Amino acid sequence: MVTQSRVKEHIETVTTINTDPADRSLRVEQVKLSLLAKRYGTPLYVYSYARLIENYRRIRDAFAAVNPLIAFSMKCNSNAAILRALINEGTGLDIVSGGELARGLATGADPAKIIFAGVGKTREEIVAALRAGIRAFNVESEPEADAIGAVAARLRRPAPIAIRVNPDVDAATHHYITTGRKENKFGIPFDKVRRLFRKLARTRGLRLVGLHCHIGSQILKPDGYIKALGRMAELLARLRADGHAIDLLNLGGGFGIAYEEGQEPMDMKALAAALVPELRKLGVRVIFEPGRSIAGPAGFLLTRVEYVKEGAVKNFAIVDGAMNDLIRPSLYSAFHRILPVEARRGRVRTYDVVGPICESGDFLGKDRQLPLLRAGDLLVVCDAGAYGMAMASNYNSRPRAAEVLVRGGRHHLIRRREKVEDLVAPEAIPAFLNGTGR
Ligand SMILES: *Cc1c(COP(=O)(O)O)cnc(C)c1O
Repeated sequence: MVTQSRVKEHIETVTTINTDPADRSLRVEQVKLSLLAKRYGTPLYVYSYARLIENYRRIRDAFAAVNPLIAFSMKCNSNAAILRALINEGTGLDIVSGGELARGLATGADPAKIIFAGVGKTREEIVAALRAGIRAFNVESEPEADAIGAVAARLRRPAPIAIRVNPDVDAATHHYITTGRKENKFGIPFDKVRRLFRKLARTRGLRLVGLHCHIGSQILKPDGYIKALGRMAELLARLRADGHAIDLLNLGGGFGIAYEEGQEPMDMKALAAALVPELRKLGVRVIFEPGRSIAGPAGFLLTRVEYVKEGAVKNFAIVDGAMNDLIRPSLYSAFHRILPVEARRGRVRTYDVVGPICESGDFLGKDRQLPLLRAGDLLVVCDAGAYGMAMASNYNSRPRAAEVLVRGGRHHLIRRREKVEDLVAPEAIPAFLNGTGR
């Protein structure tokens, strides 16, 4: 059983959430969550600026010896303030769509630090990226390389491309988020890369500048990366022997975080110690594309208990946050720690923490030991800064939550709560349905 004091010890050492010494209620940095709930309403995403920056710097510092380009994978959190905070620190962006390109540029990203990944880039997206002057396209298939080459030749702007290699490494993660195995849709099979380089070297419009791999997500041990780097180094040597000048090596993202108590996040120092000696020998610009490890532990979903329901075999805490706000538990059976905001001594009880959406899959956590809950209590879902708000939807016509950035004792609204008017604004009712036309 998780005792309050163990939870407290854990949260104080592992996250930027902490207890107010005066009343023992939870804060993010120096701001009480109860105050944020009152001020902005719930459900509410709350981010710690300090933790966001620290997460980035931990990766940067671990790999300082090779001075990598760290391209934040903005698909995990694309809020403009989060992006600006990281861009101010010198990060690049890893983008997967024209929408992300536009958002990144509008937020002030340096195009020379933008990497464009994704299996289905459209002609329009390729044009926009070439015009912007991005650092490289990660190319996932031969037809895609041909398409980029054709657009680039027409625009007379050679396209820098890195080939995404499928190194066939098992990263031991969830089957939806492992990407480096032979059977995945991602990348070019290892054995086919040399032939592809030979062909593409003659393709007008393309500059073959690099190799890329991304073996999965939420990876907690260095082994998969060590194996992948070994495979990539082998390939790099062969390609150079074939006469290709390659100067970028992108090892992707995927560094894991501690969602569960007792879980250890990826040890960045240990990972760097294992990879840096080899990387220094290769004479390449190293690129990483971390998302979750930067934004995940910096974000919290604050939610309020609406009803407590004693079921036949279970107790339910029905909260105002739902799968449309945070879909990871429903989609990946992901575990997020859930903590009571107000400390309360005494009995604990086991609850399923569920949302109000009409789906059995609408839950934030199952079988959680929490103090006896009452309507109105606040709960906070931890490690929700990555793939949280970015995957939020309007299912059940629920306006999306507001987002707040905390820095020290100050709080800043970085996305206002949606209104129902925002949901219906793009819709139109044809005149014939109103009986006023055909
Ligand atoms: C999603 C993705 C990332 C980021 O993964 P995280 O697990 O969030 O670090 C990086 N590179 C590629 C190609 C991706 O698809």
